[in-house]
Amino acid sequence: MHRSGFVTIIGNPNVGKSTLINHLLGEKISIITPKAQTTRHRLLGILSHKNYQIVFSDTPGVIKAKYKLQDAMMHFVRESLDDSDLIIYMVDSSKEELADDNIVKILKKINKNCLLLINKIDLVSQEMVISLANFWSQKFPDFKVLPVSALNKYNLDNVLNTIISYLPESPAYFPKDILTDRSVRFIVSEIIREKIFKRYTKEIPYSSEVVVESFKEKAKIIEINCIIYVERTSQKAILIGKNGSALTSLGSASRRDIQNFLKKKVFLGLYIKVLKDWKKKSSDLKKFGYIKK
Ligand code: GDP
Ligand code: MG
Repeated sequence: MHRSGFVTIIGNPNVGKSTLINHLLGEKISIITPKAQTTRHRLLGILSHKNYQIVFSDTPGVIKAKYKLQDAMMHFVRESLDDSDLIIYMVDSSKEELADDNIVKILKKINKNCLLLINKIDLVSQEMVISLANFWSQKFPDFKVLPVSALNKYNLDNVLNTIISYLPESPAYFPKDILTDRSVRFIVSEIIREKIFKRYTKEIPYSSEVVVESFKEKAKIIEINCIIYVERTSQKAILIGKNGSALTSLGSASRRDIQNFLKKKVFLGLYIKVLKDWKKKSSDLKKFGYIKK
């Protein structure tokens, strides 16, 4: 029997969603077959095996929408929930719920298989793990709850087997040698965006958009130039930091991950441009692909 299906991972920023996907996919995600973007899913990775194919889609970290952009992002989240065969809701060992209670409501009502992963249990005691498992099982009685450590690969075999057991019987959706449907450029911009999310606070992450302007592969190095769009001049100053220090360190951290991903030396140029209030303008949101044309 062959099983196949779409799995959406949802959770607050920083709980460990990407770590889980990377570890489940292993090294495989480092080989990319560029392919046209689908609008149905925000695909991150496809894990294929003789007997199954799991199509993972990572969602933007769940936040409470304050702007048009955030609306569009949360719309992606709701859309991928609708299209999934299994939803993985990841929390970490703090007891924080999703930042958007509308999505919590949807999760409670949704008539789908849901798996709740309590991640980062390496950071807490055994008693705490039990108390967390009780806490979440009471909140979401219909969900299967599993404690894991994505970083230490603890309980991931169990996660994988559980995922497979929830997938419908179906032929594969994608050729088995395809690992993602996103372009290399897209993934590069996501790596930088992720670093911005981790390094800056308040509205900065949500006011920034990364666009890869050029991508040139040479014999020994890949030259990548990106523009980071922000909404206001004051945000540009924050991104750059004192004497450029923040931008330099953003660049090094991003370059390190991009090099790991592309398995080649990378030159990364980051330039910042102000595009006034882009987040509130439909035309700009379309340009960046957040709203369908
Ligand atoms: P995402 O924003 O949900 O995709 O989170 P990431 O996968 O980027 O992880 C955020 C941070 O948590 C990183 O520093 C990870 O190394 C760390 N992290 C992820 N999983 C674990 C875990 O199981 N244990 C610990 N201690 N840290 C983890
Ligand atoms: Mg992530």
